[in-house]
Amino acid sequence: MTKQEFILKIETWRRMQIRNQIVFFIGIAFLFASWWFLTARYDHSEPSSSSRIAWACTPFALFFIMIVGHKLVLGYTFKHHGLSCPACGKPLGGVEAIVIATGNCGNCGERILESPPGA
Ligand SMILES: [Zn+2]
Repeated sequence: MTKQEFILKIETWRRMQIRNQIVFFIGIAFLFASWWFLTARYDHSEPSSSSRIAWACTPFALFFIMIVGHKLVLGYTFKHHGLSCPACGKPLGGVEAIVIATGNCGNCGERILESPPGA
């Protein structure tokens, strides 16, 4: 891939990322809102302390699942857009400035971008 193609892919990916992040935060907000809603109902009916602790941990578990899910989706979108290094397989999204500047992978240093024609 040439530098121009890479920049185009990064820009497409960034636009998708904005959409993904909006969906991600709406998802988190929705999960927490339902948790609070259920907590308000739950407190009156369940006095057991062990289930209270489990319930109190739920938002942290949800948050953890969302973070892991977000990372998996992120990895998928990198692969989907051809933005992972063919040599080491790591995403090029965080190191795109290095890739654009040097033409090499920012993780392993392997050559990724083709030299422009005539150079
Ligand atoms: Zn690499």
